[in-house]
Amino acid sequence: MKIIMLGAPGAGKGTQAKVIAEKFGIPSISTGDIFRANIKNGTELGMEAKKYMDQGLLVPDELTVKILLDRVAKEDCKDGYVLDGFPRNIPQAQVLDKALEEQNEKLDFAIDVEVPDEDIIRRMSGRRACAGCGATYHVEHIPPKKEGICDTCGQELVLRDDDKPETVKNRLDVYHKQTQPLIDFYEAKGILKTVDGTMDMKEVSAAIAAILQ
Ligand code: ADP
Ligand code: ADP
Ligand code: ZN
Repeated sequence: MKIIMLGAPGAGKGTQAKVIAEKFGIPSISTGDIFRANIKNGTELGMEAKKYMDQGLLVPDELTVKILLDRVAKEDCKDGYVLDGFPRNIPQAQVLDKALEEQNEKLDFAIDVEVPDEDIIRRMSGRRACAGCGATYHVEHIPPKKEGICDTCGQELVLRDDDKPETVKNRLDVYHKQTQPLIDFYEAKGILKTVDGTMDMKEVSAAIAAILQ
């Protein structure tokens, strides 16, 4: 099963990607998480990516495409994967298509998690991420058992640098201009599925499960 998650920043792609991954025993792959891990480790890739991420801009395709293709070539991806945050523009989608075609493979579903812009800014200010394992929480909607501490690994939860309201506005602009066209792209391929991302996290998961079964 090969799935990509579409949706605005903060729509719940990562949250749902992890649920799907668990259910099907496949990895969920977030290009954002890969970049953040590189920033944390001070790699050259991380330093370069940070320049763009801090402004809410897309990291250039030359950097992004290679790390994604390397990642999906790994052994744990042989039965499929869920991509969260890739592709984010038409050129990235075309590269992925071509790479899959060369291996006689294809994507099964593109799941668009729909949340209006008004809700996004509110959601992002409450988002907290674990610096250790990448788990994501929300201070109101999806709180950890113990405030400020990750349920899974016990490390501290932090507000992401790019979740500040000014940066979120830029990210939403970038989303509408560059990423939203992917909805028509995958609709034309007949694999687009849309879910209402404003429902409770569990209800969104149930809607996605109904599509995937
Ligand atoms: P969110 O899930 O909130 O949309 P991500 O963690 O997916 O955030 O992405 C954070 C940032 O990482 C993006 O704003 C962008 O700068 C960069 N990024 C992640 N994935 C990609 C990609 N496929 N192409 C270009 N930039 C990306
Ligand atoms: P994305 O990967 O699309 O950027 P996330 O999965 O990180 O989005 O979710 C963004 C924020 O919204 C997080 O704080 C997350 O805990 C919260 N969230 C996710 N799904 C829901 C939901 N259905 N209702 C309310 N909050 C949610
Ligand atoms: Zn953790």
